[in-house]
Amino acid sequence: MWLNTKVLVVGGGPAGVTAARVLAESGVDVILLERNLSFVKPCGGGVSLSAFEELGIPKTTIKKEVKNVRIVSPKGERLDMGLRDGNLAIVERGEFERVLRNRAEEQGAEVIEGDFVRIIDDNDKIYRVEARVGDVMTEIAAEYIIAADGVNSRVRTAMGIKPSKSLFTFSERIKEVETGFCELWFGSSHAPGVYSWVFPATDGISAGTGSFEPGEIKVLFGRFKQRRGIIAEGRKRIYRIPIWKGNLYNKGKVIFAGDSAGQVIPLIYEGIYYAMKAGEFAAGAIIEKKVGNYKRRWKARFQKRFTLMDKLRDYFFKDNASAERLVALHRRPEIQELSLRLWIKKDSSMEGFKDYIKLFGKFLS
Ligand SMILES: Cc1cc2nc3c(=O)[nH]c(=O)nc-3n(C[C@H](O)[C@H](O)[C@H](O)COP(=O)(O)OP(=O)(O)OC[C@H]3O[C@@H](n4cnc5c(N)ncnc54)[C@H](O)[C@@H]3O)c2cc1C
Repeated sequence: MWLNTKVLVVGGGPAGVTAARVLAESGVDVILLERNLSFVKPCGGGVSLSAFEELGIPKTTIKKEVKNVRIVSPKGERLDMGLRDGNLAIVERGEFERVLRNRAEEQGAEVIEGDFVRIIDDNDKIYRVEARVGDVMTEIAAEYIIAADGVNSRVRTAMGIKPSKSLFTFSERIKEVETGFCELWFGSSHAPGVYSWVFPATDGISAGTGSFEPGEIKVLFGRFKQRRGIIAEGRKRIYRIPIWKGNLYNKGKVIFAGDSAGQVIPLIYEGIYYAMKAGEFAAGAIIEKKVGNYKRRWKARFQKRFTLMDKLRDYFFKDNASAERLVALHRRPEIQELSLRLWIKKDSSMEGFKDYIKLFGKFLS
């Protein structure tokens, strides 16, 4: 089989479906190639409510709204923070992608269930891609490729780029336990250099832990469950989260968006919003016929925020003493307000960053 399109979007996660919709809305010929249309990514599904307005995400995808965040220090100091007017929505992955994919399709994107295999060649400024569609090897010719195929990006490898460094997660969906908080638990015994979490889910909770050492992730999660007092069992998954480096935007007319480019914000490891914004920026750059606009727009919008969070992560996730300080600092209303502004409200104003650096500088010196 042989297909031809202006843009081939590989991967139908948040980055890919957004890119495909924006392109199709502008009348650009686009194929969205997704390996498994029934795929449900292991994920907490937390998306700030403000993102729904900004990205036009249908609110019907919201399963729960969380109004409070709880952070727990290694020694067990507990701090509850109200999100006030900036609640966090919980979506159900799988359904979330389906709703957004349908919108892209309604706008004219062609959705194909198939697996990107390799780039055959890129002569005459056209990429010839081999994809497996059912049992049929299919060739797709495209002027642009958007690599939105996640942390294990095969497009990345096909372009000769090494996989991102990543964090391993072990997570479990448990129906028998409920929480009204987004809980973040710090402690090197169960989440060295990271945190463990309990988020409300559609039914029950999603709980998990992260580690840079894949070999010990299961044991760490077991320790976390014990600390949190969770006995019930559910569906367990292991998946990777990329570590942001900020060094990959595009190679020729192949644009990397979302997890394939490592665009998960350090410290809190939130990626859905950033993947969708990257998809939007990638599509915009193609519509404008200036691939370079992708990197320019992404950096203008997110570089400072990612850099700041990276620095804070290095400082606060160093050891247990630093995590104690993180929780203690958040007892100050002004720090709490700024952190929530940065996380939930996606404040990108210079004033927001200046305030943050000034305040943290004061308390960390
Ligand atoms: C345990 C866990 C919890 C998380 N919790 C949150 C959270 O609460 N909030 C948040 O914002 N972020 C969270 N994240 C991060 C978030 O899930 C990702 O950042 C986000 O999904 C990235 O979107 P994406 O579109 O770039 O990639 P993905 O969502 O990974 O989508 C990639 C898509 O590409 C497809 N694909 C892969 N290879 C191919 C191929 N060869 N051919 C065709 N298709 C292919 C896959 O099937 C998939 O559908 C969490 C991550 C993990 C692991």
